Amino acid sequence: MSKTMIHVEKLVKKYGNMTAVNGVEFNVGAGEVFGLLGPNGAGKTTTIEMLVGLRKPDSGTATLSGFDIRKQINKVKEVIGIQLQSTSLFELLTVHEIMQMYASFYPNHVSIPELIDEMLLTEKKKDRIKALSGGQKQRLAIALAIIHDPAIIFLDEPTTGLDPQARRTLWDIIESLKAKGKTIVLSTHYMDEAHVLCDRIGIMDQGNLIALDTPSRLVKELQSDSAIEFTLHADEDDTFIHHLQRVTQVTRRQEWYVVYTDDLQVTLIGLIQHSQEKNLKLQDLQTRTATLEDVFIHMTGRSLRE
Ligand code: ADP
Repeated sequence: MSKTMIHVEKLVKKYGNMTAVNGVEFNVGAGEVFGLLGPNGAGKTTTIEMLVGLRKPDSGTATLSGFDIRKQINKVKEVIGIQLQSTSLFELLTVHEIMQMYASFYPNHVSIPELIDEMLLTEKKKDRIKALSGGQKQRLAIALAIIHDPAIIFLDEPTTGLDPQARRTLWDIIESLKAKGKTIVLSTHYMDEAHVLCDRIGIMDQGNLIALDTPSRLVKELQSDSAIEFTLHADEDDTFIHHLQRVTQVTRRQEWYVVYTDDLQVTLIGLIQHSQEKNLKLQDLQTRTATLEDVFIHMTGRSLRE
């Protein structure tokens, strides 16, 4: 195990009667990409905001690079870089101007041309911020977050609202930060993103950390390799589905079914035979491998996208 860079101990944050973060605990090792995955309102942003000193925890604490967020927040701020969803930039400055301005806040900073290059903004360096695309603005926000070369980087939903191409570009950038040995905490509600980028993932729901492991082990714990999806008329008797061989779980929303199995072929043959015998009309039949989304549905009975 590499050196622990982030140690989080029973963090709690309440807003009135509502507990936004309920005793969250985790550790992040040096050079690790740690993901907080969960639907909107799960408590991801509040957790990050407490870790970076923007909100005071009601109880619990954390250390970042050995510095306590309750007692040494100024030290903490020296070792972290933060890109928050709400980052607003000075629209009339150019890319180069805003980088120079941010660099001037710190006694030491990285080379601005190199950073602009790394963030794939070289062609845009003389453009005003307001002329940048969503993806370019997001890359600029990351550049500004890391201009003082912090060891730990927080990215709050860095790809929300971006098109697929811009998301991929940002994934490459996050990979390159990891390759440089940075420790990264990112929040997302995209399971594919969490799966691709993160070494380990904490799944959050309603303020609780309900699972924490590597993406592949989380999916494996489902004990399902595959999912079979189909629609079946709501009035049909569906009890047989639960009794098909090798089925591990069945979820249903109106006429939509998802059947999880650890032996796709056996379950699929059983399903088709049974529906033929009973003259049931299966529609929109598809099979796929189980994903982190399925892990979330399995644990909460709800979808990440709700
Ligand atoms: P996420 O980042 O996972 O979407 P948040 O941390 O933003 O979740 O929010 C967690 C919960 O706390 C939500 O129910 C949200 O409405 C609530 N919340 C967040 N900020 C405040 C605030 N300043 N005052 C009251 N409730 C808040």
